Amino acid sequence: MISFNEAENILKNEFGKLNLQTEQIDLLNSVNRILAEDIVSDINLPPFNNSAMDGFAIHFNKDVSEWKIIGEIPAGNFNEIIIDDNSAVSIMTGSKLPKDCDTVIPIEDVDVKADKIYLKEGARFAKAINTRKKGEDLLKDKIALQKNTLLKPHHIAVAASCGRSALKVYKRLRIGVLATGNELVDIHETPIDDKIRCSNLYSLITAIRDINMHSVNFGIAKDNKQLIHDRLKWALESDLDILITTGGVSEGKFDYVKEVHEQLGVDIKFWKVKIKPGKPVLFGTYSRNGVTTLVFGLPGNPVSCLINFFLFVQKNIQELLQLNTSHKLLAELEDDLKKEDNKRHFMRGFLIQSKEGKYLVRKVGSQSSGNLAEMGKSNCLIIVEEERMNPRKGETVECMMI
Ligand code: AMP
Ligand code: MG
Repeated sequence: MISFNEAENILKNEFGKLNLQTEQIDLLNSVNRILAEDIVSDINLPPFNNSAMDGFAIHFNKDVSEWKIIGEIPAGNFNEIIIDDNSAVSIMTGSKLPKDCDTVIPIEDVDVKADKIYLKEGARFAKAINTRKKGEDLLKDKIALQKNTLLKPHHIAVAASCGRSALKVYKRLRIGVLATGNELVDIHETPIDDKIRCSNLYSLITAIRDINMHSVNFGIAKDNKQLIHDRLKWALESDLDILITTGGVSEGKFDYVKEVHEQLGVDIKFWKVKIKPGKPVLFGTYSRNGVTTLVFGLPGNPVSCLINFFLFVQKNIQELLQLNTSHKLLAELEDDLKKEDNKRHFMRGFLIQSKEGKYLVRKVGSQSSGNLAEMGKSNCLIIVEEERMNPRKGETVECMMI
């Protein structure tokens, strides 16, 4: 059995060997994908000096407070107008400024009488107000978006301004999921006798989709060595980046996953980590035709299964892609917690921010890893490190948002 930190180091090293591939995709399909190139602007943004307000463009002279309107420039209909200190051009937001105009007075700051405008008393009047300079947002040939940006609509707006209708992004990792267990029935069925619904396939597939990766569903295999062998062989030969099984990875009589992986040539890197929940987690690598698949055997217990996915799979994918998306916060405990062993615990909690801005966290339910519905009431995991025992109300704990 290894420590959580040792497991993390092994995983970091193996994830680093994954062969990240890239593809070109249409800008409109790029939301939530991860940029695999820097985006450079092909133009200055804005491309020309322009007005930030509807109003009047002038050449600033601190001693002048009335001007004659000598022309008008709607946005997109520029014509050069030569002005002097006593003339103004009616201008709209976004309109290009004539070359001698350096200042814009908003329409609400002047009185208009016939073809003249008069600055209102108390109106703000200073050189260059209400103008936007060519290139002040971004200069041509400068980086507009950094490689490894997780693309959201505000990034897509930037790429669009740079004229990019297609982007190079990382291909989604292909992640296979297989559930094992004689007791499992699909969720459409009402389980009878000693059967239970196979919730893990659903939690894992949606957890994979939640980080916008590609899931491949290998269904449910019964606890039969040959059946598990055939299904795992199929999965291992499916060019996956990652294969995740759930169940059958402890030391029970019908737990075949580890043994079959070994038979199939999976190089087991660790089995059992000093954590709670999820101790029996297994990790190995499988290489075929120069392609490596990372193999995870997660426990069947639905709480352990999902928490182990967050800790070992999701976290490492996010780190590999340099995404700064893991949300850890320090919070004050509102309950005493029971923790009497030297494992690292990940307890289900509910975190809120007080009116004063302080983070407060309370535990959710009994902390039994058998209680899945209790996990459904949580929004974070409370992390209690190996050496820390029985944290008390009022103490500070680290929480990982889920
Ligand atoms: P195992 O890891 O196979 O010993 O399973 C541990 C516990 O998790 C048992 O109570 C199983 O019934 C339950 N379990 C196993 N697989 C699943 C699954 N796919 N969905 C929901 N519960 C499961
Ligand atoms: Mg089982």
